[in-house]
Amino acid sequence: MENSIDKLNRLKREKDAVIMAHYYAIDEVQEIADYIGDSFYLATLGRSLPNKTIVLCGVDFMAESAKILSPDKTVLIPDFTATCPMALMADTDGIEAVRKHTEDVAVVCYVNSTAELKASSDVCVTSSNAVKIVSELPQKNIYFIPDINLAKYIQEKLPEKHFIFNDGFCCVHDGITEEETLKAKAEHPGVKLLAHPECKEETLRHADFIGSTSQILDYAISSEDDAFIIATEVGILYKLAQHCPNKTFFTVNNTQFCKSMKKNTVEKIIEALETGEPEMVLQGDFIRNAEKPLTRMVELA
Ligand code: SF4
Repeated sequence: MENSIDKLNRLKREKDAVIMAHYYAIDEVQEIADYIGDSFYLATLGRSLPNKTIVLCGVDFMAESAKILSPDKTVLIPDFTATCPMALMADTDGIEAVRKHTEDVAVVCYVNSTAELKASSDVCVTSSNAVKIVSELPQKNIYFIPDINLAKYIQEKLPEKHFIFNDGFCCVHDGITEEETLKAKAEHPGVKLLAHPECKEETLRHADFIGSTSQILDYAISSEDDAFIIATEVGILYKLAQHCPNKTFFTVNNTQFCKSMKKNTVEKIIEALETGEPEMVLQGDFIRNAEKPLTRMVELA
């Protein structure tokens, strides 16, 4: 009798499918994924692969980005309710208002955003390439959407730019408080704190290293230290344990957990491959408009 892994592999062959998972997906999904990465890696990977079907185990904006960059491919998102709350924390009216009242402004859109926001923006960025890309923009004024914490982090690195902030945030990273951070550091003296720039300014102030999820992973792998405090989503612990079996990783609190990222399961992946649903579908015009800032990001990065 065919077990679930055999079934998954058979369906992958039949549908010419590749399974991509974000670092924050549950361990079982990361185990069976063909590729695991952060949003920048996953956004660009799909179009370089020959497969006709992409199964995106992340949240909706990632499936949208994959569809925008690979419009001819079928993009499946095993649980369509896996949405990122931060992706919705800005709107096109706000963008229009800023454009109307501000000269020499670039609208910079974090990839953790809806396709609608991307389509109204000048360029997209990820947490790993945001500083580089914003530094290369000719405009002095930067309207950064939707994440205020990442915007403040970039502003500190690029004082020559003038930022207009939008009040969006990631509930997981924003929820890591300074008080908890100081407590974790006191409990583990001498242990380095590795933090994601979606954390608040007052938390980042205590970090020994600030970087995207993949940069945190690279740092922990290459460092000679044998213990770290991690200030990002707990899903990264799967890869950290795989790459660094002899190192110890502590979290800052016990709520570094993104409910949406945990919604995709192996059973739902199998069902999506069997039924061809849920599929990410976007209108042609929409894809063309949202593709420009994503392509500009890929070029500038
Ligand atoms: S971890 Fe934060 S930014 Fe990422 S999907 Fe969850 S809520 Fe959105």
